[in-house]
Amino acid sequence: MKIPWVILTFLHITISQPSSRCIYGEECWPKESDFFHLASQLSQPLLHPKPPGSACYPINNPSGKCSEAIENAHNGRWRSGQPGSMQAPFLETFTFPNGTVSACYINATLGFPCSQGSIPEIGVDARSVQDVQATVRFASKHNLRLVVKNTGAFFLATTTSGGARVVEAFYFECTTLRTSPIVHPSPLQKLLGLTVSAGVQWYEAYDAAEAQGRTIVGASGVTVGAAGGWVMGNGNGDLSPRHGLGVDNIVEFEVVTANGTNLIVNTYKNADLFWALRGGGGGTYAVVLSATHITHDLVPLTAIGGFANFTSPNIAKSVITEFIRIHPSLADSGWGGSSFFSQGLLSYLFAAPNVTVTEANTILEPFLAFTRNTTGQEVRNDVIPYNSYYAWFSASFSRDGDTGHNTELGSRLLPRDLSEQDPGKVADILLALPAT
Ligand SMILES: Cc1cc2nc3c(=O)[nH]c(=O)nc-3n(C[C@H](O)[C@H](O)[C@H](O)COP(=O)(O)OP(=O)(O)OC[C@H]3O[C@@H](n4cnc5c(N)ncnc54)[C@H](O)[C@@H]3O)c2cc1C
Repeated sequence: MKIPWVILTFLHITISQPSSRCIYGEECWPKESDFFHLASQLSQPLLHPKPPGSACYPINNPSGKCSEAIENAHNGRWRSGQPGSMQAPFLETFTFPNGTVSACYINATLGFPCSQGSIPEIGVDARSVQDVQATVRFASKHNLRLVVKNTGAFFLATTTSGGARVVEAFYFECTTLRTSPIVHPSPLQKLLGLTVSAGVQWYEAYDAAEAQGRTIVGASGVTVGAAGGWVMGNGNGDLSPRHGLGVDNIVEFEVVTANGTNLIVNTYKNADLFWALRGGGGGTYAVVLSATHITHDLVPLTAIGGFANFTSPNIAKSVITEFIRIHPSLADSGWGGSSFFSQGLLSYLFAAPNVTVTEANTILEPFLAFTRNTTGQEVRNDVIPYNSYYAWFSASFSRDGDTGHNTELGSRLLPRDLSEQDPGKVADILLALPAT
């Protein structure tokens, strides 16, 4: 079985900014004997992660693992399983104030030397509450900065200290996926929960929910963590229009706080911390060991997938304006999914639980007619019924994820009134983003 990783990065060096934390190279930096003492409290040896491309250097004598790195450069499961890998190469690099880049590109033919970039140099492979507690206390005692890495998916780069050069890290690995239903006290008595350990990724959580005959609100990015940054940020998924954001679907966390205390956190116990963890952002308030998600009844759904070409910027603007305008009504009918558009094309993939094929066609036909008229072309639009979200997700998404690309992201949550009142402005802003 693949072992999911969660990485806690406790210390980093910030070349350009002063830090109130102890920095590598300073007097206060822990001594060998301190690390030796820490290691004696841990269940696993300290780790020394390397960027995934390091196997391809030196270029005239790469290690045997170079072809594995090249082959898996865009495989999210492989990337999350490598202690030294993030989900996008730019998250692994560090840019010095003078513009010099420290990185280790998998493509060694680019001609750059391989260096550590933002990847931590030392880590803790923690597999128990005690491992996490020992590590958190160590960081606190030595005034080290703590950063948590789960899958390395976060584009804001807080997983690697916001692009700062990480010189010390601690790894936290969870191997337990608890799948037994949990019955919560009143008023949640009737809800069946699914508790997933930190490190579990969505494809594993979906499998676990399916095995219980339940469904769960999660990311369409299947290699995103189910108990990490997605849950603590504004993680959303295809079922969010029907069942809410990730934070709306959490009933309990198990955590270790900054002083090393192990807590159960829910509406009844440590309610303030429970509130803060649901939206306060990953790595902010505590190290999460597990999260308990609400599960929902299995219901059939209908999926739509479509594609249109644009031959001019004006046509793109008209169609995308209309596309933005219909989003509130799509969401009201339970449709969730993703779309990609540029000056040249629109493609979308949406699904809605408990909606029939006939209902799907009815709601979409006005937009399709508008697009046909505007583009003067047929629009591809497939409408397919599935027995469950799991069936759709399994048919639509690779379990390996498609990562390893450098992606620029804009905003994630669009206010409803903007879609309704000024869809043309939204279209202008989004179409002005460079298509990458
Ligand atoms: C390919 C891909 C697909 C995506 N798809 C979606 C999607 O469908 N829906 C969506 O909403 N978002 C999506 N995202 C964005 C994703 O939800 C965020 O990047 C999220 O922060 C990732 O969380 P993580 O724990 O997996 O990643 P990480 O980068 O490891 O962690 C993110 C943040 O959470 C902190 N953290 C992680 N684990 C813990 C823990 N156990 N305790 C405390 N802090 C922790 C980290 O320090 C970091 O600050 C996608 C991203 C990628 C790369």
